[in-house]
Amino acid sequence: MKREMKQKTKSTILLTILVVIYLCLEILTAVFDMKGYQSFNGVLMAFKYGVCLLMISSSQRRGTLVGILLMIISGLLLLRVVIMTQYLGLLPGVFNMIFYIITLYVISLDFKKKEKENVTDMLTGDLNRRGLYKLLRGKIDNESPFALVCVNLDNFKAINDNYGHGYGDKLLCEVSRRIEKKVGNLGTVARIGGAEYIVCLEDEKIAESFANELLDIIKEKVSITDNDMTIDCYLICYAGVTLYPKDADTAENLIKNVDIALNEAVGRKAKTACVFDEKMADVLKRQLEVERYIKDALEKDYFFTVYQPQYEMEGKKLRGFESLLRLRLPDGTMISPGEFIPIAEKGNLILQIDDYVLKRVMKEFKPIVEQNKDVMVSVNVSAKNIGNSTFIPTIKRILEETGFPPTNLEIEITEYCMVTSIDTTVDNINALRTLGVEVALDDFGTGYTSLNYVSKLPINLIKIDKSLIDDITNNDNSREFAHLVISMGHIMDCHVIAEGVEDTKQLQLLREDGCDYVQGYVWGKPLGYEAAKDIALN
Ligand code: C2E
Ligand code: MG
Ligand code: MG
Repeated sequence: MKREMKQKTKSTILLTILVVIYLCLEILTAVFDMKGYQSFNGVLMAFKYGVCLLMISSSQRRGTLVGILLMIISGLLLLRVVIMTQYLGLLPGVFNMIFYIITLYVISLDFKKKEKENVTDMLTGDLNRRGLYKLLRGKIDNESPFALVCVNLDNFKAINDNYGHGYGDKLLCEVSRRIEKKVGNLGTVARIGGAEYIVCLEDEKIAESFANELLDIIKEKVSITDNDMTIDCYLICYAGVTLYPKDADTAENLIKNVDIALNEAVGRKAKTACVFDEKMADVLKRQLEVERYIKDALEKDYFFTVYQPQYEMEGKKLRGFESLLRLRLPDGTMISPGEFIPIAEKGNLILQIDDYVLKRVMKEFKPIVEQNKDVMVSVNVSAKNIGNSTFIPTIKRILEETGFPPTNLEIEITEYCMVTSIDTTVDNINALRTLGVEVALDDFGTGYTSLNYVSKLPINLIKIDKSLIDDITNNDNSREFAHLVISMGHIMDCHVIAEGVEDTKQLQLLREDGCDYVQGYVWGKPLGYEAAKDIALN
């Protein structure tokens, strides 16, 4: 039998037992009345009152109704005895009954309020996790199809950390309001975690399109005012969808599935909702496995860095190196950063990774830059880090600890950080520049932000992404775009480097377009530390 049904049956049995006890007490009252032991009535009344309280707590709505009804009947019976016997000594008992009925009603209201609070998210007024489970179990008992749409606000933590909880709370309420407005009477909204909402939709056929429309609505600009200051922000959000009864038949599994679908959407940075599919569960299993490897690697030092050379286009003079992280398990298996970095970025492991790489690279390159002051070393830093107010103190601390000259350090950021928290990002880039650290914009052309944003960033170097370079020899549009990026970079007073250059034809076209630097297999693959040191010092 289903869980909700089982519980209902249990409370019905308990209520029936209590009703029987109450009736026995009532019969006992009548017997004592007949035998003239009215003095026992007060005690029996107190017992009956206690039984009614138990009824209310055991089976809220039905218990309240039955308990109050029984008390009213007892009261009327007592009144009848008073009228028939004309014995006014029983009158206080009638008033007692009235008092009991009123207190039972007040207590039942309080129970009801507490029950509502138990299933409500106090911040937004939506259902909480417990409420959602209750709702789902009820629906599953009715066996009517429905869908769950889960939406997660990916950059909420950054906004909350940077602007404070006042803004964070208001933001959550605003998102909740948008979702509720969109849902209307098509379903129910729940907030089940920090920035995770689940909509239980009555009509499972519209779930996917509904989820996509919901994403569009949440992504619209949000303006939040707190303490007379208004911030405008754009939320990055993802959605997952699962269907009942197709995907699972318990509330627990449905919520697990919708989380898996959401996880897939986050992993793919999908602009539209991902609908649950069995294969996604395997992906999640692998992610958890890799997450374990990352934690082990940080603890037991399985990470190491390699360095890919960057050269000046004209004359092939060495500019410096980009550090690239590697993860080798004790059995020799390599896990690529393409796999472990996005997984680390989902949690907060990326902050520890960035910290590790910065320290390691500065330590390893200190003796190199002491001998060759012209060599730059670039470190990739996650958008989560560059958009965080703790980033600059971290960099300062590591520069101090290692004694590394800031002017030989370059931080690579991606366009993604501009969507996360633009204000802190710009402040942090400015602070880096003040320290003397250079800043490069990585993976340019993979397309998150407008050129308008980019032109406002105080960066030194633009790195054209490999995906654009791959096409320049056979696609005129890519070639023109690369040309445009190079010209734009120069207008912004930036240098431009082409990344992932693999053949001499690409090299030739980039040279014609005025690209300043080259990084790619054509001139050098990532190297171990000793090999990189040899190149830097010879
Ligand atoms: P990225 O920063 O854009 O790094 C460039 C990637 O392109 C590197 O892959 C590099 O090995 C590869 N590459 C460079 N030239 C060529 C080429 O000519 N042909 C081909 N096929 N590939 C080329 P890798 O090392 O696998 O890194 C992938 C991504 O992982 C990096 O992209 C970066 O986003 C991330 N990553 C790597 N190391 C770190 C790190 O220390 N910290 C952080 N936060 N991210 C890192
Ligand atoms: Mg890079
Ligand atoms: Mg890149």
